[in-house]
Amino acid sequence: MCAIIRALFSLMALIVQKYGGTSVGNPERIRNVARRVLETQQAGNQVIAVVSAMSGVTDNLLKLAKDVSDHPTDREMDVLLSTGEQTTIALTAMAINHLGGRAVSLTGAQAGISTDGVHTKARISTITPKAVQKMLTEGNIVILAGFQGQTSDGQITTLGRGGSDLTAIAMAAAVKADLCQIFTDVDGVFTCDPRVVSVAQKIETISYDEMLEMASSGSKVMQSRSVEFAKKFGVRFEVRNSMNNNPGTLVKEEEPGMESVVVRGVSIERNQAKITIDDVPDRPGIAAKIFGAINRANIVIDMIVQNVSFDGETDISFTLSAADLPKAEAELRKILPELGDSVDLRSQSGIAKLSIVGIGMRSHSGVAARMFSALSDAGINIQMISTSEIKTAVTVNESEIESAARVVHTAFGLDKVA
Ligand code: ASP
Ligand code: MG
Repeated sequence: MCAIIRALFSLMALIVQKYGGTSVGNPERIRNVARRVLETQQAGNQVIAVVSAMSGVTDNLLKLAKDVSDHPTDREMDVLLSTGEQTTIALTAMAINHLGGRAVSLTGAQAGISTDGVHTKARISTITPKAVQKMLTEGNIVILAGFQGQTSDGQITTLGRGGSDLTAIAMAAAVKADLCQIFTDVDGVFTCDPRVVSVAQKIETISYDEMLEMASSGSKVMQSRSVEFAKKFGVRFEVRNSMNNNPGTLVKEEEPGMESVVVRGVSIERNQAKITIDDVPDRPGIAAKIFGAINRANIVIDMIVQNVSFDGETDISFTLSAADLPKAEAELRKILPELGDSVDLRSQSGIAKLSIVGIGMRSHSGVAARMFSALSDAGINIQMISTSEIKTAVTVNESEIESAARVVHTAFGLDKVA
C-alpha cells in the first residue's frame, strides 16, 4: 500500500519539455505537441513547454533581413528573430486551450529570463521564475518561448542558433525541475548517423562530455552551449522523439561503469577543407601570425597539425569548413610574404572528419590502433590525426567517409545485433 502511495506521489513532478522546430513545423504538429503536453499535465504533473520557431522560420527571417539591409544591427536582428518563437507559443497555447486545457504563453522576458547585452548570442545571467511558478500553481501549462531573453534595461535578446535548448535546460535548473525532456525528430542520440550506418543503435545513457564531443564533431542533436550549461548545473535531461513514445537517450554526469564502454559513438563531419602552409621558418611568432590572420577573418578552425622541423623549416596544416576556404586563403595570401621567402600555401577541399568519442578511452589502450587498422583494412587513407582525452579524430577523403564510418562502427562493436 505504502509503495503504491509513494509511486503515485513520484508520478507528480515538475517537468520541462522542449519541442524543436520540426516538432512544431505545421499546425498538425502543433496540435500533436498540444496533446502530448496536455497528457503530461493530466498524468498529474506541472508542465513548462519550451518551443522553438516553426522549422524554417528563423532562416526565413534571416533572409528577409538580408533582403532589406546589408548590415542590419544586432539589436534589430533580435527584435526580428524573437518573433519566430513568439508565434509558436501563442499557437501552442491556443491549441491546448482548444483541447480543453489551460495554457498561458510567455515570452522570455515575461518568464524572467535575463541576459547580457550581446545581441544575437546573449548569455543568460539570471532567471527569476516567479511568474512561471505562479502560473503553474494556478493550474496552467506554461508555454515558454525558446531562444530569447531580455537585458536589464529591457532590450530583447536571442541566445544564438539552437538556443531553445538552452532556454529549456536553464529553466529546468531555475525551477529545479524533476525532469527535462528535449523532444526532437529523432529517437535520441545514436552511435552514428543512422542514415550512414544503418545498424547504428540508440545510446541509452551518455555523459555530458561525450555529448559535447559528439556535438562538436558533427552530430548536431543539441546546441553545445546548452549541454555545457547542463553539465555546469548538473541538469540531467533526456533526448526523445516528439512523434512516438520510445524511450530516448539520458544525458547525465559520469558514473562508474560508464567507462567500460570504450567508444560511445562515431561522428562524421562533411564539407571540410585543409590548408597547408609549407616551409615556414621554425621560429617564434609564425603560428601566431597565421592564426591571427584567420581569427581576424572570424573563421573557426578545427584540427591543427605542425610537423617537427627539419633544417629550420616546418609545415603547418589545419582544417576548416569548406565554405570558409576562399576567405581563409585570401586572408593568408596577404600575410604570406611576412612569413618567409620559400613559404607556399596549398589547400584541398573534399575532405571529411571521422571521430570516435568515449570516456572509456581514458582507461583503455590500443583504441587509436584499432581505429587505424579498421581503416587500413578497408583501404582508406588517413590524412590528419588529432586526439584528446576522450576523442580520436581523423580526416579522410569525403568520398570515403561513409565506408570509413561503417568499418570503424563495426570495429568497436557498436553495430546493433539483429
Ligand atoms: N529558432 C532558433 C533557431 O532556429 C532557435 C531554436 O530553434 O532553438 O536557431
Ligand atoms: Mg534545434
